[in-house]
Amino acid sequence: MDMRSGNGEVDTPSPQGGGGIALVAAGATPMMEQYIEIKAANPDCLLFYRMGDFYELFFDDAELASKALGIALTKRGKHQGHDIPMCGVPVHAADDYLQKLIAQGFRVAVCEQLEDPAEAKKRGSKSVVKRDVIRLVTPGTITEEKLLAPSEASYFMALGRVKGGSENAYALAWIDISTGTFRVAESSEERLATDIFRVDPKELIVAEPVFRDEALKPVFDIIGRVANPQPAALFDSATAAARIARFYDVATPDSFGAFSRSELSAISGAIAYVEKTQKAERPPLARPEREENGATLFIDPATRSNLELLRSMSGSREGSLYRAVDRTVTGAGARLLAERLTAPLTDPSAIDARLDAVAFFAADPDLADRLREKLKAAPDIARALSRLALNRGGPRDLGALKSGLGAAAGIAALLDGALLPQELVAARAGLEALPAGLYDHLSQALAEELPLLKRDGGFVREGYNAELDEMRALRDQSRRVIAGMERDLIDETGIRSLKIRHNNVLGYYIEVTANHQAIMTGSDAAKARFIHRQTMANAMRFTTTELAELESKIANAADRALSIELAGFDRLVSEAVGEAEAIRRAAEALAILDVSAALAVLARTENYARPVVDDSLNFHIVAGRHPVVEQAHRRLATEPFVANDCDLSPEGNGRNGAIWLLTGPNMGGKSTFLRQNAVIAILAQAGSFVPATSAHIGVVDRLFSRVGASDDLARGRSTFMVEMVETAAILNQAGERALVILDEIGRGTATFDGLSIAWAAMEYLHEKNRCRAIFATHFHEMTALAGKLPRLHNVTMRVKEWEGEVVFLHEVARGAADRSYGVQVARLAGLPDAVVQRAKEVLHQLETSETSGKADRLVDDLPLFSAAMRREPAKPTQSDELAKALAELNPDEMTPREALDALYRLKGVAGG
Ligand code: ATP
Repeated sequence: MDMRSGNGEVDTPSPQGGGGIALVAAGATPMMEQYIEIKAANPDCLLFYRMGDFYELFFDDAELASKALGIALTKRGKHQGHDIPMCGVPVHAADDYLQKLIAQGFRVAVCEQLEDPAEAKKRGSKSVVKRDVIRLVTPGTITEEKLLAPSEASYFMALGRVKGGSENAYALAWIDISTGTFRVAESSEERLATDIFRVDPKELIVAEPVFRDEALKPVFDIIGRVANPQPAALFDSATAAARIARFYDVATPDSFGAFSRSELSAISGAIAYVEKTQKAERPPLARPEREENGATLFIDPATRSNLELLRSMSGSREGSLYRAVDRTVTGAGARLLAERLTAPLTDPSAIDARLDAVAFFAADPDLADRLREKLKAAPDIARALSRLALNRGGPRDLGALKSGLGAAAGIAALLDGALLPQELVAARAGLEALPAGLYDHLSQALAEELPLLKRDGGFVREGYNAELDEMRALRDQSRRVIAGMERDLIDETGIRSLKIRHNNVLGYYIEVTANHQAIMTGSDAAKARFIHRQTMANAMRFTTTELAELESKIANAADRALSIELAGFDRLVSEAVGEAEAIRRAAEALAILDVSAALAVLARTENYARPVVDDSLNFHIVAGRHPVVEQAHRRLATEPFVANDCDLSPEGNGRNGAIWLLTGPNMGGKSTFLRQNAVIAILAQAGSFVPATSAHIGVVDRLFSRVGASDDLARGRSTFMVEMVETAAILNQAGERALVILDEIGRGTATFDGLSIAWAAMEYLHEKNRCRAIFATHFHEMTALAGKLPRLHNVTMRVKEWEGEVVFLHEVARGAADRSYGVQVARLAGLPDAVVQRAKEVLHQLETSETSGKADRLVDDLPLFSAAMRREPAKPTQSDELAKALAELNPDEMTPREALDALYRLKGVAGG
């Protein structure tokens, strides 16, 4: 059977040929006409057009999808005289294909059959099954377990903009449909990119005119194809209140809080996009929750990626801060931890509340372990609930709710009576507020083993519903009756190989091999008794009146059983959706407990300390470490990580923090030190203990880092340009509460240019920004600034020189590096010896004052490279040979006599 035309729909080629293969309905088959109409309504999506057991794609969609999915491109009929390209994916495997398409940035409109093909047939043999798009699958609106990463939030974000006075006012609203989270915050043109990057949405919905605004082009360029222009009407702030009220089914959204016009515009855009993509279904969204501006640490996009918070530079989670500190045991916990790391707080008391929760579990490891055991058994209830509410859930989602609610009750009991800190008291209250009835109903109704799809039935427990049990018994009993009937028929006909079988087309039938035909059809009596159904190559199929009757009884019982189960399913779903608010609260509480206990485990196993975070401008870290580098060293069993202090606190009666000017060789550990201090600030303000013996941090409001060189060729910016743009942003924005990490400013240009820029930037930071900063540089000349700028201190990465080799101690010490060791590092890296020797000569000349900086004099004074090369290889000197001979001796292994002989030999080498 050709499953693809399983509907038996009429699809004969159109007799009229057209010129091109333009999608015009005229002259198309009725089915193609329907396809073209639906496709026209969804031009920016690939259309998954349901035909029987397949989703089919036609025309350009087919060509795009077959390439993107690596599946065969075929054809089906003709349109306007041309073959219609087609490809298809089986419905049961559609999730996998959707995942691939979404990952490649496609959006997909899923078009389903809205009636049974049999219904359509009743309207006439040429009629087309009713179809329509039931959902748009887009990168930011997916809910399927298979398509979502358990530990990653899946946000889409809407950007609202309105004229507010003379300026434009901006706001962002972001929704995770898979969990119901809905947040909104004001923004500004200057912070837009930063605010968007913090949330890292999978899609950004923007009104068309805003999308076309040249001033915002740089923002959309950085965000790339994630930005998705939509009609401006979706963002209308004037009708937003009505849209919100309609969505939440309330008379007015006044009780939701006071939102600015730009916030209303963003909220409206976000809700409109939910409606547009989910069609008739409504996810159980929380009410939009407002985030105060300034409540979180401002980290610009460059800093975010430099510090590798959630992903390393290569784009993977491996090597990121998140990976190094994540000890959570649930997906929801992992998502909350990631969110905390990307949005650390700025209010010391809120930070302390989180730290109290971590400290509580750190002090009671046994309780933390028992909690984590229970959490491991708690499935992702927020995501299960969303799927159920969107009519995409199955019995296993109900099962997940049941286990989750059960675990929540167990955890509430575990924490009962404990003297909890404030954040955990709130979490426990969230668990206790769960309605007991729902858990009981789920437990009573659901069987132990649950099928994936509700239409498979069998998920309702025996004993739950008397009628269901009766129908099942009838169905199962009838099956036994069939087995009996088969035995009777064998006796009656004498055909030992006679079988009663079942398939979807014929239902139940009696099958005999062809050589027994005579027995079944030989007499009139036999003919009357055995009704012929089908003749196969080697077999014949019949039915009897009793078999047909029994069959309809079985089918009815099975149908009735399934419909009872489905009704039960719907009842449980609507009960669960009715409790959405409480379930979401409990899910949040479980996530908070998971994160708090996980951070306690981290602190215990990695030896982290509780930081003091307050309103001061201190920044005093004792024995700080870099969490990622430290763990990597341990894993690779290389030398242990060397802890370092950092103190940028105001001194004496000073009101501003200090700046450290860090010099030292390449590979000395400068970048690691810079980053580790930024990371410690992030961890502390995210509410985690920190990798240090102690840390006292006056809250940082903005964190800037300019670390490492990267170019941005796609946007036409050289390495140096990127560096200058980032530096400009820092000097323009950093206030006295900021923490600034600058690595190697001015490296990308000529030495004197670079030095001048670095010099001026440093003076500006000290005099104007007056913020806490660490400034790493290779320009030793700058260390002289410490004599002039009172809050500037020189520190250096210590090295030892041993037998002409540099040994990195990775220790930060007061003072300035005496030299760079660049040539030594180059040698370690394996530069050819001749180049290293030559570089030493050039360096020597450069360092002598007469030739300093004058390249033309250098060219005269230094012999040419080729001349230097010619001198090689130098003959081994006497001292080289002596050293070699000495090195070969091993005094511990020698007898006195051998030692004396060796001494004579050495004298010989020395020519004495
Ligand atoms: P460059 O100027 O070439 O970028 P750098 O001075 O910034 O070098 P890093 O990149 O920070 O040096 O570190 C160089 C190496 O030293 C890394 O491989 C790192 O593992 C190791 N290292 C850095 N800091 C420490 C430390 N505190 N203890 C032990 N090893 C360290």
